[in-house]
Amino acid sequence: MSAEGTPSVGAPATRRDGQERAPLVSARGLVKAFPVRGGAFGQVVGHVRAVDGVDLDIFPGEVLGLVGESGCGKSTLGRLLLGLLPADEGTVLFDGVDVGRARGRELAALRRQMQIVFQDPYSSLDPRATIGDSIAEGLRAHGVPRARREQKVREALELVGLEADHARRYPHQFSGGQRQRVGIARALAVEPRFLVADEPVSALDVSIQSQILNLLRDLQEQLDFTLVFVAHDLAVVEHLCDRVAVMYLGRVVELGTRDQVFGAPLHPYTEALLSAIPVPDPDRPRRRVRLSGEMPSPLHPPSGCRFHTRCPIAVEGVCDTEVPALLPGDDPGHVAECHLRTGAHRDLDPGRAPAAPDA
Ligand code: SF4
Repeated sequence: MSAEGTPSVGAPATRRDGQERAPLVSARGLVKAFPVRGGAFGQVVGHVRAVDGVDLDIFPGEVLGLVGESGCGKSTLGRLLLGLLPADEGTVLFDGVDVGRARGRELAALRRQMQIVFQDPYSSLDPRATIGDSIAEGLRAHGVPRARREQKVREALELVGLEADHARRYPHQFSGGQRQRVGIARALAVEPRFLVADEPVSALDVSIQSQILNLLRDLQEQLDFTLVFVAHDLAVVEHLCDRVAVMYLGRVVELGTRDQVFGAPLHPYTEALLSAIPVPDPDRPRRRVRLSGEMPSPLHPPSGCRFHTRCPIAVEGVCDTEVPALLPGDDPGHVAECHLRTGAHRDLDPGRAPAAPDA
C-alpha cells in the first residue's frame, strides 16, 4: 500500500533486498497544463496537458527509468515529483509529506532531500562562479558551516571522479562530460534521498554517455539514493534501471520491472520503442513494430486511447472511443493502458469489443 493507503501502482514484484517497503515518493492524479498563446495579442488560445492524470509509486533505493518521445511530459513529471513545478491537480507525497503543501522549514528539509541533475549542466552553472562555489551553493542555503562546506565540496568532486583542485576552476574549463560530473556532484553534495536525472546524457558524445551512466549506477549503489532517470531512449535505461515507466502524451502507458518491459512488453508503443533499438546479434529475432505518423499535438490529444492514431493493432469502435485504464497484465507489478493487452476489452460492450486480445 502507498503512504496514502491506496494500492501501490505497479509495485515491483520483488525488490532488490526482498523487503516490502512503503513508497518513498507517491503521486496520485497528477495533472499539469501549460497555456498556449497565439493571435496578435498573445492571448491564451488553449492549454497543453503535459501531464494528464499520472499515478506513480517510487520505492526507496530503486532506479526508475521514465521514458518517452520528446513532448510526452516526462521532464514535466520529473519536476512535479520534486515539487519544482506546482501541480494543477493531484498530490505528491515524499515520505508521507505533501510536497505541494510544504512550507517553511518543512519545505527546506524537502529541498535538501530531493535534487535534480539537468540535461545541460553548462546552462545550469553560473559561468562567473567557480565550480566549488556552485557546488557549495546548496550547502550554504541549508546552513552548512563554511569549513564543512569546503570539505563536502572536495568529497563531492572526488565522488564523481574529479579532483579536489577542480573546485577553483570555472565551467568553461571543463569538457561536457566533466561538467555533467559537476552537475551530479552539486546534486549529491547535500546527500539527497531522491534524485531526478533529466536526460543527463542526451547532450553528450556516445563515448562519454556510458561513463556517466556507469557513474550514476555506481553512485546509486554506493549511496543508496532513489533515482528517477528520464530518457527518450529505452536503450539508455536498459542497464541502469530496476523498473521502467513508459510515457505517451502525458500518460504513463506501461510500468513494470526492466525484465517485464524489455522481455514481454504489454503496450504496442513500448514494443515500437523496443523495435527501434539496434540488436547487436543479427540472428536474434526481433519483432518489428513500426509507428505510423508523428505524435499527435498534446493540444488536441486523440479521443479514446491516445495512441490509437498510431497503433498497429487498434480496433475501430473500441480504441478510438474508450479510454483504457492502467491495468495489470499477467505478471504482478506489470501494468499497461491497453484494452487488448490487459483484457479490458472484455468489460466493454460485447458487440463492440474485439474477439481476441492477442492481435
Ligand atoms: Fe492500441 Fe487499442 Fe491498446 Fe490503445 S487500447 S494501445 S489503440 S490496442
